[in-house]
Amino acid sequence: MKAFTYERATSVEAAARAVADRPGARFIAGGTNLLDLMKLQVETPVHLVDVNRLGLDRIEDTDEGGLRIGTLVRNSDLAADARVRQRYAVLSRALLAGASAQLRNKATTGGNLLQRTRCCYFYDPDKPCNKRNPGSGCSAIGGFTRNHAIVGASEHCIATHPSDMAVAMRVLDAQVETVDGQGRRRVIPIADFHRLPGDTPHIDTNLRHGELITSVVLPPPPAGRQVYRKVRDRASYAFALVSVAAIVEAAGGTLRQARLAFGGIAHKPWRVAAAEQALAHAQPAQAAGRAADAVLQGAQGQGGNDFKIPLLRRVLAGVLVEAMP
Ligand code: SF4
Repeated sequence: MKAFTYERATSVEAAARAVADRPGARFIAGGTNLLDLMKLQVETPVHLVDVNRLGLDRIEDTDEGGLRIGTLVRNSDLAADARVRQRYAVLSRALLAGASAQLRNKATTGGNLLQRTRCCYFYDPDKPCNKRNPGSGCSAIGGFTRNHAIVGASEHCIATHPSDMAVAMRVLDAQVETVDGQGRRRVIPIADFHRLPGDTPHIDTNLRHGELITSVVLPPPPAGRQVYRKVRDRASYAFALVSVAAIVEAAGGTLRQARLAFGGIAHKPWRVAAAEQALAHAQPAQAAGRAADAVLQGAQGQGGNDFKIPLLRRVLAGVLVEAMP
């Protein structure tokens, strides 16, 4: 690990300023991803600003009927919150499908959104990787691609985003609240928070340097049954090959409307409006294929991950059956 300096921030504004004023500085909260990356020298921050004592660890009701989740709320606490379990079951289930109990006790809401890909080449400093070292190439293309993207990838990077929580937040239309080094606050819809790799795969999100996530806001829960299904290589502590977050409203065997977000297939949580339109006022057995076609438009396997295309079709069909009343 490379040497770095450390400070404990005493206010939200001071934390943002401390990172914004110093190139190479980073925030640290749970550290469940950043510390691993530092040990491998994939990440080499010169200065860490500890935000753990900023009081951003509460879950509050909003006037609109939703929830404001402080960025430091631990994944375990969020999954166990009675309001989340009752009104946002898809989020609670996604959180419990992620990582291990020990990691969930440490990992934070903001950090979960910011975790980096688990592409094995990204974690190996001896291998070319455009995300770690821009312009060096992509070792995954033509290499081991079991966990890699089938949609939204580029010739520069085919990595996937590893978060389960973010997939549930995408289907719930969450909004990310931030403050920057000048004290300016803004709200970023979760749809615009993560980026596709394009020709800048080293930039994962649309946050600016020194911009601190303060909270994530959930709108009032939409009507319908909520389901999260994750397919992975082993029953626990593995990242998604394909996951689906679904909110389905139906009556008499017919779908009224459905929301779908997918994990494990792209560089960001994947949501396609045409797929949801295909399910509106339809019989799930007949419409599931059309919805999958829309999700998979332009899909391309890389050899080792070709199986994700038929797998997604089967998982979606199963989720729609599970979600019907
Ligand atoms: Fe790096 Fe992305 Fe290629 Fe993986 S897929 S080696 S993260 S550039």
